[in-house]
Amino acid sequence: MSNRTLAILKPDCVQKNLIGEVITKITGAGFKIISMKMVHLNEKSAGGFYEVHKERPFFNDLIKYMTSGPCVPIALEKENAVEDFRKLIGATDPAKAEEGTIRKLYADSIEANIVHGSDSDENAKMEILHFFSRKELLENHG
Ligand code: GDP
Ligand code: MG
Repeated sequence: MSNRTLAILKPDCVQKNLIGEVITKITGAGFKIISMKMVHLNEKSAGGFYEVHKERPFFNDLIKYMTSGPCVPIALEKENAVEDFRKLIGATDPAKAEEGTIRKLYADSIEANIVHGSDSDENAKMEILHFFSRKELLENHG
């Protein structure tokens, strides 16, 4: 799945009514949508997704934010998907993100930063399977 990555339009993106605008940026950059849904995460699901950050000081705030409203996970496909998507969204802290990136354009803070993007092929595979069944991915592919 090295040509795939997981995006999540985070609760602030949905709250600010930016779903359409952000998806336009994503597809405009050449990503194909494989599967997509709207879900309101509970603490268990958000905690599982961000398991790697559980010792970080911001973990509790992160879970509160990610469970504050619905979000939109999207399985994406493109050559070099992981790296190209990280470039498209910009640095975690929007103040440090490059001009024209999604986080620079729309994000308010290092926490409420609009969008998630997987950071490796291995994590992309796990993260996609956190939200989508193999059956869903097969049915929607092609
Ligand atoms: P990402 O891969 O760029 O999303 O960044 P990380 O994997 O390091 O962090 C995951 C998410 O936790 C980020 O996207 C932010 O929503 C949040 N986050 C990261 N760093 C901080 C921080 O220093 N403070 C707070 N409050 N949230 C953070
Ligand atoms: Mg990360």
